[in-house]
Amino acid sequence: MCVGAMATAEGASDSPIHVLIVGGGLSGLATAISVSLAGHKATVFEQSPAPFDAGSGVVTCPNGTRLLSRWGVGGPDTRQTFAARWDVCDPRGTALGPDLMTGHCEGVKAAENCESLPPWTFYRPHLIQALLRRAEEVGITARFGARVTRFNGLADGKTSVMLEDNEMHHGDLVVVADGTGSKSRHLLTHNPVNPTATGYIAYRITVDRTRVRGPELLAFMDNLCIRTWAGNGSYVSVYPMRNAGFLSMMVLIPQDQLQQVVSINGVPSLQHYFKDWDPLLSSMIRAASNANKWTAVHLLPERRSEDGSCILVGDAANTMWPFLSQGLSLDLEDAGTLGCLLGHVRSRSQLPAATALYTRIRDARAQRMRDETDVFERQLQTTTGGCRNSEEGFEAETDFRHKFETGRMAQSWMWSYDAYAEAEAAFNSDPF
Ligand SMILES: Cc1cc2nc3c(=O)[nH]c(=O)nc-3n(C[C@H](O)[C@H](O)[C@H](O)COP(=O)(O)OP(=O)(O)OC[C@H]3O[C@@H](n4cnc5c(N)ncnc54)[C@H](O)[C@@H]3O)c2cc1C
Repeated sequence: MCVGAMATAEGASDSPIHVLIVGGGLSGLATAISVSLAGHKATVFEQSPAPFDAGSGVVTCPNGTRLLSRWGVGGPDTRQTFAARWDVCDPRGTALGPDLMTGHCEGVKAAENCESLPPWTFYRPHLIQALLRRAEEVGITARFGARVTRFNGLADGKTSVMLEDNEMHHGDLVVVADGTGSKSRHLLTHNPVNPTATGYIAYRITVDRTRVRGPELLAFMDNLCIRTWAGNGSYVSVYPMRNAGFLSMMVLIPQDQLQQVVSINGVPSLQHYFKDWDPLLSSMIRAASNANKWTAVHLLPERRSEDGSCILVGDAANTMWPFLSQGLSLDLEDAGTLGCLLGHVRSRSQLPAATALYTRIRDARAQRMRDETDVFERQLQTTTGGCRNSEEGFEAETDFRHKFETGRMAQSWMWSYDAYAEAEAAFNSDPF
């Protein structure tokens, strides 16, 4: 595939505004690229002294892959892995129907070549570097070691941010992309910002291929499969990354179950917890040397300051539960929607209407995704998948399959979403 072929500044505004972006993570950099391709100036302020991201894996679903591809991000040096299959299994490893990629081709619009839009898996630092490279190519200024401590709302049509060292920067629009722990949100929206616990403990594990034993696991890595196991209230998603040199695993376990089973943390507790599950999964966990553990949280959506001079994108706006692997793809959609709408902005006076439309589009999309995540979570809670051995706990396999078939149908509308097309249609029916 010719990555970057679509990276034109189509719909670009000929009256540039200056967008100040707080946070140089995946969302902030993606937003900077889409704003710049829309013909505007973008400056990114990142508090870390250098580009940084946790050394784990991340997936873009086709709705996110579509945007990276459009912006010209991805290619041999990004070392993303193209997923060839995505299987969803019960705890014993029985596939719950054909792989998700089969549905993907039906769901992606016929005009597009769905083969070129598979899920991509990345090593997060590689994706950050690729976004940064592309940002530099399109003329974005990224300032590192630049922590934003204050915002000033509109004054004389301008807005501004202040850095830790009291340096002031003026622009036309502030975009907040400072992540789940956003400190900026309450300064701007006066709404509570505390992320709430989901009741799940999350583990992120990276397995080095050199530690992998057994032909089955090596074949899994070489076949570039993503595999999700779901049941007994728990969820595991695994994929190879960095040209199949590593496996990335995401594990979610209800907090109360984990406490009942074991008291120790890390790999031994996971080995114990999953000992009755699919042997392939057990062998993956055995090959792990450590597990990064945290409490999974979610954050109620919030997208715009009261005076419209500032909007929120990415995890600062809407932190999702990870069940549908949509976190990053939704963040990229925020960036694409904003870029498309700003491409229609010819004067600063149109910004309040543009940001109001952005809010409407993204709130509706995030709500639909949130509802779907709730459905998935409820299914997970009420499903044993026939793994645990108490007879009463067994569930007929057909019921189990039926529940997850509903999820497969949802995957079609999730993956076929084109953020630019949707924003364009919304603009055409409600132009500003
Ligand atoms: C370990 C992990 C694995 C994940 N795996 C997946 C996955 O497989 N699939 C998926 O879809 N999603 C995944 N997600 C979710 C997805 O990665 C996140 O949705 C995405 O990284 C959020 O990006 P962000 O830029 O909004 O926030 P962040 O990545 O948190 O970036 C925020 C940035 O803002 C900076 N910042 C904060 N405050 C300030 C300030 N005052 N001034 C300047 N800079 C500031 C921070 O230093 C940081 O660089 C994962 C998340 C994590 C943490």
